[in-house]
Amino acid sequence: MSFMLVKLLFVGLLVSYVNTFHLIVIGDWGDDNENQYRTARGMSALCQTVKCNGIISTGDNIYPAGVKSVNDPRFNTSWRNVYNLKGIQDKYWLMSMGNHDHDGNYKAQIEYTNVEPRWHLPSLWYDAQFQSGAIHLFSIDTVSIEKSVYDYKKQLQWLEDKLSKSKATWKVVFGHHPPVTGGKYAPGVPKTHYKIVPLLEKYKVDLYLAGHDHNLQHISKDDVRNEETKWIVDYVVSGGGGRKLAPKTANAENELMKRGYKLRFFRSQFGFVSLEFSKSDLLNVRYFEVTKPDTIEITYTFNRTKSAI
Ligand SMILES: [Zn+2]
Repeated sequence: MSFMLVKLLFVGLLVSYVNTFHLIVIGDWGDDNENQYRTARGMSALCQTVKCNGIISTGDNIYPAGVKSVNDPRFNTSWRNVYNLKGIQDKYWLMSMGNHDHDGNYKAQIEYTNVEPRWHLPSLWYDAQFQSGAIHLFSIDTVSIEKSVYDYKKQLQWLEDKLSKSKATWKVVFGHHPPVTGGKYAPGVPKTHYKIVPLLEKYKVDLYLAGHDHNLQHISKDDVRNEETKWIVDYVVSGGGGRKLAPKTANAENELMKRGYKLRFFRSQFGFVSLEFSKSDLLNVRYFEVTKPDTIEITYTFNRTKSAI
């Protein structure tokens, strides 16, 4: 009897292993400090236990002012030499840029895509598809939107065109600024909210991933508002990659509530988020904290199920 149970469990694990696609999401990390290194060790610990397919950066890759050139040593000290640990040393990074990256030579971070095969930032905005097109990722540059620079209108048109044509099961948009947040920038970064949220809802995007606020959050519209929009976007803030943490803003929950959003999870801790997609139409989102030395702890999790929508 116990042998059968073990065997069934083994088969179950094998099936889920083959069918899953697993991404780590980390933001606000390139500060060259112990908190960044500890978070990297947490990612390494997770990715030695379960298969990780890649890493998404929600921006602020290099503090305080990006890089000067494609040969800047900070590419090594803030990124390559930090995330060179077992389980993550060969992983592909899908980058976006934050305000601190734009304070330096932003073009050098784009050019670095041609130098380092694991660094993917071919342009200010781009898309990428995985699992035969079932997962469609869109990287946007919210700094362009917030500052109304770098052909931001062209970017918005590009995003709308791409989203409208996408046949993917899962659509995920990521960028630096959070349209809704309960932290330092509560209740949200205005232009990103005004310009991006209508597109996310219209084209049925599942997740929007951001950083900028240095904490870990999950926000989505409350049930009443869901009845109006008929579509639920889950907003994830993953900004605990190493830079000094930001607390929750007093009254943020009420301010979000006035706009129809519910702050479902907030922790001002270092850590990262993982997205586990399965072919059985399930997306499991998990929040990992590295509050204790060399220990990772799942402090929150939520699911999206396609069949239930
Ligand atoms: Zn930022």
